[in-house]
Amino acid sequence: MLTIQISVLGMSLLYLLVITFMFFSKKRVNNDDTNIYKYMLIVNILAIFTEFSLYAIADAVPVMEGTRLFIFLMLSKVFVCLILLWFILIMIYTTLICDAASKKKYLETRQKTKLAYKVFTGALIEMTIVLLSPVEFVYADTSGYTTGPATKIAFLFIIAACFTIVFYLIKNWKAVHNKKIIPIVLLLILMIATTLIQATNPQLLLFNPVITLIAIIMFHTIENPDTKIIEQLNMARDQADKANKAKTEFLSNMSHEIRTPLNAIVGFSNLLLENKDIPEEAKDEIKDIIMAGDNLLEIVNDILDISKIEANKMEIEAGEYSFKKLANELVTLTKGRIAEKPLEFKVSIDETIPPVLYGDAQKVKQVCVNILTNAVKYTKEGWIELKINHVAKDGVCRLIISVEDTGIGIKEGNIDRLFNKFDRLDVRDNITIEGTGLGLAITKKLLDLMGGKIVVQSVYGKGSKFTVSLDQKIVENPTIKVEEESIEDEKVQLSHEKMVLIVDDNKINLKVAERLLDSYDIKSVSVDNGHDAIEKIKNGEKFDLILMDDMMPKLSGVETFHMLQALEGFKTPTIALTANAITGMREKYLDEGFSDYLAKPINKEELNRIINTYLNKE
Ligand code: ADP
Repeated sequence: MLTIQISVLGMSLLYLLVITFMFFSKKRVNNDDTNIYKYMLIVNILAIFTEFSLYAIADAVPVMEGTRLFIFLMLSKVFVCLILLWFILIMIYTTLICDAASKKKYLETRQKTKLAYKVFTGALIEMTIVLLSPVEFVYADTSGYTTGPATKIAFLFIIAACFTIVFYLIKNWKAVHNKKIIPIVLLLILMIATTLIQATNPQLLLFNPVITLIAIIMFHTIENPDTKIIEQLNMARDQADKANKAKTEFLSNMSHEIRTPLNAIVGFSNLLLENKDIPEEAKDEIKDIIMAGDNLLEIVNDILDISKIEANKMEIEAGEYSFKKLANELVTLTKGRIAEKPLEFKVSIDETIPPVLYGDAQKVKQVCVNILTNAVKYTKEGWIELKINHVAKDGVCRLIISVEDTGIGIKEGNIDRLFNKFDRLDVRDNITIEGTGLGLAITKKLLDLMGGKIVVQSVYGKGSKFTVSLDQKIVENPTIKVEEESIEDEKVQLSHEKMVLIVDDNKINLKVAERLLDSYDIKSVSVDNGHDAIEKIKNGEKFDLILMDDMMPKLSGVETFHMLQALEGFKTPTIALTANAITGMREKYLDEGFSDYLAKPINKEELNRIINTYLNKE
């Protein structure tokens, strides 16, 4: 019997040493699981060695007496203490995995230390009680066993730990569905068996083989992430972050690079159009150039928008806005897009919509423009109808905007693909219609951001209807003026001669700005770097307005502006002029202290606004 027991113990030790070696030979993540397991392994090995020593002492002579008996009894107490300690550790482990699985809030380090201190004190008290209680050695047949209060008390503590484990498992049963509880449940079953066997065969020591078996199983079930893989993943994430940053930078640069020449193309074409000496046929071609330029600008803007949305950088900038003005802009814009196409444009806008709403007008407009533009693009003949209705309730106005057309329609199976980016339907049929397949993807994402919805109804070959519903707050006491102004008619009339300083390192851009200002009879002076601009102001030259490009070599626009601000008495309104149209540019420049922001290519309406605001003040 004893030989079997010793061989089982030997085997247990062997397995345990292999597992321990494997566990400690690899770098581990410092988490609760691995920390507790580490101690369990150490306690387990010590317990086996103690048991071996007990056998060695008891086996040497038939009857133990004196010092030998004393050492034997003391070692027996140490042995039960170690087993008890192992059970306390697995009890803590169980409570931890139960808490983690039921998604309880993780404890702060301070709370953890406090708890650990309590558990440690408890364990220490329990072990002291065991160590102080008496034990005796009982001879039975050929071998013997230890008994007495110390072993009985230790056994009671172990049973208490097991009950705590059962209690925790039952309490968190639903949450604990992972493989980590397999060794715990197995331990409980084996403990019942051990108790039964031990009751009839007290000389049989089964604790060590049982806990070793559990430790071996636990090695495979504990949270054991591979640190190497984690390091690799972290590296991969850093690289992806870098690549993403590079992409955003690239897009921002690309936008800048494309906008700069576009500024010249669109700017000069607009000026040519106003030239009376140009023949009518040439004017048609100029209009085509402008349209192509506008299209290109739209594509650049769409690509920038979708990348902003994907980087979660698109933000809703809500404010008060005049709904009528927005509706007018939509109508004018669509009429412009229809131009000479044989399309009737029907408009029906609910007159009772509250005049001032609160929301992101720019994005509401973008959504509507996208579906209106599609209606024009995908309809050869017939009509397009824009309908805007509303339902007002509790200070919220639900806008219901629908755009219906008699165009090519969409096949039923394709409706789901409509909002995928870069997805263009029936590409072969629509090859002549320009588009990137981004418009509706952006529309959908913008609506998601604003809490709106879009639905599509369509009959292939007959037409389509896009309906948007969107809630906007009603503003009862607006702080903005509600004039039914139409941007088209916004004429600029200056009271007296004005002088503008233009700062831009790009010669062609300087020329565009000069010529644009010239068309308003505004005089201008150009310099191609910041130092010259500062020099002019220092020399006492007076300007009514400064248009300042930002991206200039040596001294940027922002730096130049800050140096100007430092000059005594400098009060000239300064407008940041930039081809960089990535998110938050307006805010960035206003934060820097600029009076306003103008994007390139310079838009005529925006320029009108700037001139009216800053040069028409007296
Ligand atoms: P695109 O730049 O190609 O117009 P959108 O995302 O705006 O990209 O639209 C995606 C696709 O949905 C279009 O390529 C077109 O096939 C289809 N589509 C959108 N609006 C309409 C419409 N009013 N009538 C028919 N097809 C449409």
